[in-house]
Amino acid sequence: MKILVTGGAGFIGSHLCEKLIKGGHDVLCVDNYFTGTKENIVHLMRNPLFEAMRHDVTFPLYVEVDRIFNLACPASPIHYQFDPVQTTKTSVHGAINMLGLAKRVKARILQASTSEVYGDPEVHPQTEAYWGRVNPIGPRACYDEGKRCAETLFFDYYRQHRLEIKVARIFNTYGPRMLPDDGRVVSNFIVQALRGQDVTIYGDGTQTRSFCYIDDLVDGLLKLMDSPLEMTGPVNLGNPVEFTMRELAELTLRLTGSRSKLVFQPLPQDDPRQRQPDITLARSSLGWAPTVPLEEGLKRTIAYFRPTL
Ligand code: NAD
Ligand code: UDP
Ligand code: UDP
Repeated sequence: MKILVTGGAGFIGSHLCEKLIKGGHDVLCVDNYFTGTKENIVHLMRNPLFEAMRHDVTFPLYVEVDRIFNLACPASPIHYQFDPVQTTKTSVHGAINMLGLAKRVKARILQASTSEVYGDPEVHPQTEAYWGRVNPIGPRACYDEGKRCAETLFFDYYRQHRLEIKVARIFNTYGPRMLPDDGRVVSNFIVQALRGQDVTIYGDGTQTRSFCYIDDLVDGLLKLMDSPLEMTGPVNLGNPVEFTMRELAELTLRLTGSRSKLVFQPLPQDDPRQRQPDITLARSSLGWAPTVPLEEGLKRTIAYFRPTL
């Protein structure tokens, strides 16, 4: 199949492109290189099954494909808050353009949505039935509300135009090819620990997240794309094992053998207190569950960062 991956030069996108090519598919990677890099895909460039195109999804795109994975959007708070209007445009105009494309060529289309649609949740762990608690005017809203609106668009194209849609709500994912200055917690802690710099815990470090290793996540996205027509989602994809940020910092120090100190900095506004996916739906309908424990995934991620720093 000919498969379009928007945001294909990013962290998740580059791993997805790689896996699709291994499966024998013809992959078109579309990216504006805002947070993605050519280094992430350079190893694919000589493969005749791979093609990269510089393009911003907020503009229309006319190509012929069978399937679309819509991943284009900066995912780290520092990057999505850098130009918040562009972030909303990427999610909303990007979704409209990719849905319009899917409609014209009758392609099946998957949206990389996010656990951020749940905001700072009152329901724990989060199930897909929970509607979320998002501050619509806060600094995270450009991302959270943009992604929520994209979900709305997917379901309206589904109801109005009978499009084949799939919506994945991705929880915190980590692994090789995160940017060292990405700002997300796993890459920050590893880079700080390896450089012997202070490890920056925001707040008191009791807030929680549940971290999914990249290979598990990509496997979930592929299973969702291949699932029966009626399986539209939204479906949570993430690792349900929950950690505090303090535990993550201590584990990172142990695995890197670093003597860095833990320092406490102010908690950013609207930072969710806790987050853990309920993955009952993914287990039952996709036969999917993560297999890589945090310690193992961190070791692999540290092995990636060590020589690059
Ligand atoms: P990333 O920043 O590494 O990748 C995003 C890619 O999209 C980058 O290559 C970037 O250059 C590209 N991009 C941004 N705006 C674009 C535009 N207007 N046109 C074309 N390309 C554009 O982030 P990631 O972690 O790989 O995330 C990929 C997707 O998964 C995003 O949609 C993100 O919201 C979603 N997601 C990620 C996580 C996570 O923990 N990594 C969690 C939930 C959801
Ligand atoms: N679009 C696109 N590629 C296509 C078809 C459509 O980028 O192959 C864009 C187009 O710019 C349009 C949007 O998708 O604005 C929505 O398309 P749709 O057909 O749903 O709506 P309309 O064209 O009526 O606005
Ligand atoms: N965080 C932290 N130190 C850092 C970066 C992040 O303590 O150097 C915290 C952040 O405040 C949040 C958690 O780690 O509570 C996860 O942050 P990230 O930006 O990775 O993801 P998100 O908040 O979008 O889940």
